[in-house]
Amino acid sequence: MPRPDDPPDPPPLVERGEWVVAPDGARVLGWLEVEERCAGCGAPQVYAVAFDARLCMRCNAWLEAACDDDECDYCRRRPARPLDAAG
Ligand SMILES: [Zn+2]
Ligand SMILES: [Zn+2]
Repeated sequence: MPRPDDPPDPPPLVERGEWVVAPDGARVLGWLEVEERCAGCGAPQVYAVAFDARLCMRCNAWLEAACDDDECDYCRRRPARPLDAAG
């Protein structure tokens, strides 16, 4: 018996082809790292191919700091919040 104050499970992130799609329609080119969870919300981490970095689609936050190489093409293109790049 689940306790009545348990929050319902949030809808899952799903992989569609080369994309990871969130329940709200946001999507990121990459894949789910199902063994690795966001420390903030517990959602699976998403590896974003375009940025060579992991992020959380629920928190809309990077889970890895950008490197300190000014010439790094991956990190230079990173938006402050990962899903701001979508669309
Ligand atoms: Zn999160
Ligand atoms: Zn970098």
